[in-house]
Amino acid sequence: MKIAIIGAGAAGLMAAITAKRLNKNLKIDIFDINKAIGKKILASGNGRCNISNSQITSKNYIGENPEFVNDALKQFSFKDFERFCKSIGLLLDIKETCKVYPLSNEAKSVTNLLESTINALDIKLILDTKVTDIQKEGESFTIHSNEKTFTNYDKVVVSCGLGAAPQLNATEMGMDFAQKFGHSSNLTYPSLVGLHTNYEQPSRIQGVKKEAHVSLYIDGNKEAEISGDVLFTKYGVSGFAILDISQYAVYPLSLYQDVQIAINLFPNLNRNELLGMVESLFKSLPNEKALMLLTGLVSNKLAPVILEGAKIDKEAKASEVNAKQIRSIINNLINWRFKVTDTQGFKHAEASGGGVRTDEVDSKTYESKKCKGLYFAGEVLDIVGNRGGFNLHFAWASGYLAGKTISK
Ligand SMILES: Cc1cc2nc3c(=O)[nH]c(=O)nc-3n(C[C@H](O)[C@H](O)[C@H](O)COP(=O)(O)OP(=O)(O)OC[C@H]3O[C@@H](n4cnc5c(N)ncnc54)[C@H](O)[C@@H]3O)c2cc1C
Repeated sequence: MKIAIIGAGAAGLMAAITAKRLNKNLKIDIFDINKAIGKKILASGNGRCNISNSQITSKNYIGENPEFVNDALKQFSFKDFERFCKSIGLLLDIKETCKVYPLSNEAKSVTNLLESTINALDIKLILDTKVTDIQKEGESFTIHSNEKTFTNYDKVVVSCGLGAAPQLNATEMGMDFAQKFGHSSNLTYPSLVGLHTNYEQPSRIQGVKKEAHVSLYIDGNKEAEISGDVLFTKYGVSGFAILDISQYAVYPLSLYQDVQIAINLFPNLNRNELLGMVESLFKSLPNEKALMLLTGLVSNKLAPVILEGAKIDKEAKASEVNAKQIRSIINNLINWRFKVTDTQGFKHAEASGGGVRTDEVDSKTYESKKCKGLYFAGEVLDIVGNRGGFNLHFAWASGYLAGKTISK
């Protein structure tokens, strides 16, 4: 039996290794545009590769039907992944946060060991080759690339990801291939990405990072809240809390809904505690500039912005700030509102939301419900995970199930 796998990322490599280990008689070809395998594995976790997570449920995934991941997570849990890693010689470092990294702390170890396993199993890598079309005549698939045609495949796995990080040659061609065989896709959008805001003077606070609690409002209703770093940037906001909350902000934004974030810079204090602290500070040092006193609370760069937001002159002394203005300062410190206007786009996104609709794919086998012998795995499907190793785990787990099925 001859198998074509489109995409040498986590999903495609796992599908190939699993299938060949279960059935030595398979002839497997893996195609990729890139000259080397696993470009996104190498980019992940800032080159350290947050490869999985030891606590995974379907709640960590977003899509039209997040429950779709359940079969893959059941059949390929974190423990199974750990066993797989051992089998290729990869040791893992499981952090207290449940995030999992290679013990070497280097993504390169992951791709090296995967490639060595692929070679040992005599799986053929057809790299530097962009698949342009997939055709089926009778029971047999043909793969077209720009230069060559590859024939007589019994099964094809489409594991070519989606468009996040186009600089790594990411494409959305998987959805075109799917469409050819009668599949539909949900709108794609950048996920785990920085957000542009309507804030007018961002350069003044550019580079400031603060632990905060972020709430997301869609058309005035609170839809999500997350704690973590917020980084003020040239274009708006980034940092882990923003990347996390972007997963719930970007789709409504694409539907032109009103998307706002509220940043609480003092999540561990309630409003009255903070009000009491600022009031007594201003009372005890009446001749000190209000601006100077604020720099004892927030960073030098944020203080003038907070003061300005409360419409207080930067030269004003503490004694000249009235009760209403102090309440306004507090409001800016704990409920600093920004309207989200755009995202940093696919180029800066860690993942893509949307993709091939999961109700047209069998969640147990990853075979297309529209075309026998066609399979999907990984990010090309309408499943996107939270930050923390969940996207790679879904790629491994879905690749495993597809691989298991095609081996038969
Ligand atoms: C900067 C960055 C950091 C990330 N960090 C993390 C992290 O720490 N943890 C985590 O879990 N996830 C992370 N992710 C997300 C994770 O890398 C992906 O979700 C995962 O790699 C998807 O795997 P995949 O196999 O489905 O697709 P991909 O890895 O995208 O593989 C698909 C392959 O198919 C190739 N391809 C596309 N079209 C064609 C075609 N027409 N012909 C031939 N080849 C084609 C692509 O070039 C690619 O090599 C990160 C992503 C990025 C961009």
